[in-house]
Amino acid sequence: MADFDAVIVGAGAVGLATGYALVLRGQSVLVLERAGHIGAGVSSRNSEVIHAGLHYPTGSLKARLCVEGRRALYAFLDAHNVAYDKCGKLIVATEDSEISAIDQLARQGKINGVEGIRWLNGAEARALEPELRVVAALESRESGVFDAHGYMAALQGEIEAHGGAVVLNAPFEGARRTGDTFTIAVGGEAPTTITAARLINAAGLSAQACARVIEGFPSARIPAQHLGKGNYFALQGVKAPFARLIYPPPIPGALGTHYRRDLGGVARFGPDLEYVDYEDYVVDPARAATFYQTVRRFWPNLPDGALQPDYAGIRPKIHGPGESQSDFVIDGPADHGLANLVCLFGIESPGLTSSLAIGEEVARLLS
Ligand SMILES: Cc1cc2nc3c(=O)[nH]c(=O)nc-3n(C[C@H](O)[C@H](O)[C@H](O)COP(=O)(O)OP(=O)(O)OC[C@H]3O[C@@H](n4cnc5c(N)ncnc54)[C@H](O)[C@@H]3O)c2cc1C
Repeated sequence: MADFDAVIVGAGAVGLATGYALVLRGQSVLVLERAGHIGAGVSSRNSEVIHAGLHYPTGSLKARLCVEGRRALYAFLDAHNVAYDKCGKLIVATEDSEISAIDQLARQGKINGVEGIRWLNGAEARALEPELRVVAALESRESGVFDAHGYMAALQGEIEAHGGAVVLNAPFEGARRTGDTFTIAVGGEAPTTITAARLINAAGLSAQACARVIEGFPSARIPAQHLGKGNYFALQGVKAPFARLIYPPPIPGALGTHYRRDLGGVARFGPDLEYVDYEDYVVDPARAATFYQTVRRFWPNLPDGALQPDYAGIRPKIHGPGESQSDFVIDGPADHGLANLVCLFGIESPGLTSSLAIGEEVARLLS
């Protein structure tokens, strides 16, 4: 008998949502987190946007899990009194040459089964958001912003209420198979060894490093890691100009620098996309010049001096500059050949939105 039915590495949104899916199936679950609090990784450095699911190619995991995850997420937030604002999103063409790109998104959204999409001409879009420079826009009414930390705390609460545990300051250091169970080395101040029938690697930016210390995991299945930094600038001294999320047409490798008003009323722009060689969360003030240019395409009234460097996040990308955008990789037993093990790679956007559906997918692969 193993100590736990399942051990999950990483208490980000995905690890916690996976723990939730497994405790709902009656499994005993332990979530190991290296940091001193939950959500210490990518899950705390993002846009907190609930995506509708327009952007992702037909048949991809992102397309399916974003739509399923978004529906499940709103229901979960309602049930657990976690704050959100279903403010909607406008994806805007600021000149005629951009119309085909948002038309393509409208068609992809239909294929992906996204509800609440509406085409607006310039006047209709300006009637909703008078400060907008726009010739046409796609409205997505299912999009919103939410309190990602409140969400993760609610997931932790559910895991614990079902008899599971989330252990902090408990780094996963490696695993090997002994018969039917994994023997797992846990470091930290009180290093120990535990056993589990199932092991899930949801370590975000460290997923590749964790896979490398799982004995027998085929190295050929560990994807290359690329760090896609996203910088944010906050709007200061000016009232938030829009109620809705405002997005440009997507750029290669990302959704494009967008506008968001968070639940506290703070307006922010970002993230851009900057490939970096190591984790570095400092926002270079010199990037402001490009932000002014990008933002003024859709908000010409942005005053000089109103953008302040804010924070940055790093996307755990598995494609590099110039390569096409990759899908989530949820590597289960049928892929890597090891029973009862799932490794998750490249869980960048829309990973938060998709997290409950990713958890369900992992539970299905391990059932
Ligand atoms: C700039 C940016 C903007 C984004 N915007 C959005 C958005 O608006 N909407 C959306 O849906 N998605 C968005 N995303 C994507 C989303 O944030 C991620 O997909 C999601 O947070 C990934 O969660 P995770 O649990 O996989 O990773 P993480 O949150 O990074 O969790 C992994 C955890 O594993 C822990 N860990 C690492 N190594 C070990 C170890 N050895 N032992 C124990 N624990 C370990 C880490 O400390 C961390 O807490 C954005 C991402 C970025 C970077």
